[in-house]
Amino acid sequence: MTLVIDSKAKAMKAEGLDVVGFGAGEPDFDTPQHIKDAAIKALNDGFTKYTPSSGIPELRSAIADKFQRENGLTYKPSQVIVSCGGKHSCYNVIMATCEEGDEVIIPAPYWLSYPEMVKLAGATPVIITTTDATEFKVTPSQLRAAITPNTRLFVLTTPSNPTGSVYTPDEIKALGDICVEKGVLIMSDEIYEHLLYDGATHRSVASFSQAHYDHTIIVHGFAKAWSMTGWRLGFLAAPEPIAKAIDAIQSHSTSNPTSFAQKGGVAALTGSQAHLPLWLAEYAKRRTVAWQRLNAMPGVSCVNSKGAFYLFPNISKLGLKSADFCARLLETEKVAAVPGIAFGAEGYLRISYATGLANIEKGLDRMDRFVRSLNG
Ligand SMILES: *Cc1c(COP(=O)(O)O)cnc(C)c1O
Repeated sequence: MTLVIDSKAKAMKAEGLDVVGFGAGEPDFDTPQHIKDAAIKALNDGFTKYTPSSGIPELRSAIADKFQRENGLTYKPSQVIVSCGGKHSCYNVIMATCEEGDEVIIPAPYWLSYPEMVKLAGATPVIITTTDATEFKVTPSQLRAAITPNTRLFVLTTPSNPTGSVYTPDEIKALGDICVEKGVLIMSDEIYEHLLYDGATHRSVASFSQAHYDHTIIVHGFAKAWSMTGWRLGFLAAPEPIAKAIDAIQSHSTSNPTSFAQKGGVAALTGSQAHLPLWLAEYAKRRTVAWQRLNAMPGVSCVNSKGAFYLFPNISKLGLKSADFCARLLETEKVAAVPGIAFGAEGYLRISYATGLANIEKGLDRMDRFVRSLNG
C-alpha cells in the first residue's frame, strides 16, 4: 500500500501536478559543506580503494570517541563496525544474533524494515501494539508478557520513527532491566538521538550498568543528524563477541562502506556541529505548526512528538482505513502521507515535517479541507 501511494505520488509529480509530500523519511537540509569537502578531498587524494571491511581506523576511533563524549560509553574501536547505513547496521545485528526458532520483540508502530529483516534471518517477529494513549511507548509489563524462552532480541527505537516519541531515561532503564533479567539482547536504534524538542533528553540503554552494556548493541548512522542519507554510512557498537560476528558477516557480504564517504564521516563527527541547532530550531517551528493544525481538524487528534521529524496523528474516528485515507487524500487533494498500517498501526498516518514551512501550511490546508469533507 505504501509503495502504491508513493509511486502514485511520484507519477502525479512527474505529470506536473502540485503534490505536497509528507512522506519523506529524510532531512530536507543539505549535508554540511565541511563534510562534503572532506569527501571531495579524499577522492582527489586518491582515497578510492578498499578499506578494512569494518571501516577505517580513524573513523572507528572517532565513533568510539563520540560514544565516550556524548553517551559516557567506553567502546574500543574493535567494538565499532562502520557499515553502509544505519539500515545495514540493523541488518547485520539481526543476522549475527538471530536464527530460526528465535523471537524478536518489536513494538508497533515500528520502522518498516525491522520485521522483514527478522524474517530474512529465519526468526519470528513478535509485535507489541502500542497506541497514542501511552505516546506509543511500550510498558514494562507489556515487554515482560511478550518474553518467552525463545526471545533473543528486543528492538528499542528512541526517538522513534514513525511516531517521534521519546522514552525517558527511567522508562529506558525499566525496559533494559527486564532484558538483563531475562537474558534478552537489545538492539537500540539511536539514529535520532540528536533530534529532540521540549527539553527531552536521550539516554542510551547501554549506559545504566555493565550488564545493560553487555546486553546492548547500539545502531546509529550519519543519515539524520548530518543529513547524509545518500552517503550510505552508518555504524554500530556492540560487546566484543557480537562485533566480531558482525565483522565476519560484513566482510563476506558488502565489505567496506565507501572509502571517501568514510572520510566524510570523520569530518561529521570531529568537525563543527553548528548546523544542528539551526536545523533543530527549524524542525521545532514546523512541528508546532503541524501539531496545532492537525489537532484543529475535526476528528483528528495528535500527540506532540518529542523527537525525530515525524508526527503520528490518530484518524481512527474518520471512518476510513489508513491506506484508503491516504489514497483518497492523494487523489482529491494531492497530499502524500504514509498510512499507519505500513508501520503496523491502523488508524494513524505518518506526517514527516522534514519539508519547508510553506509546504506544511499548504499541505495541511488541503488535508483540513479533506477531513471536513469526510465529516460533512
Ligand atoms: C533512517 C533510519 C535508519 C537508518 O537509515 P540509513 O539511511 O540506512 O542510515 C535507521 N533506523 C531508523 C529508525 C531510521 O529512521
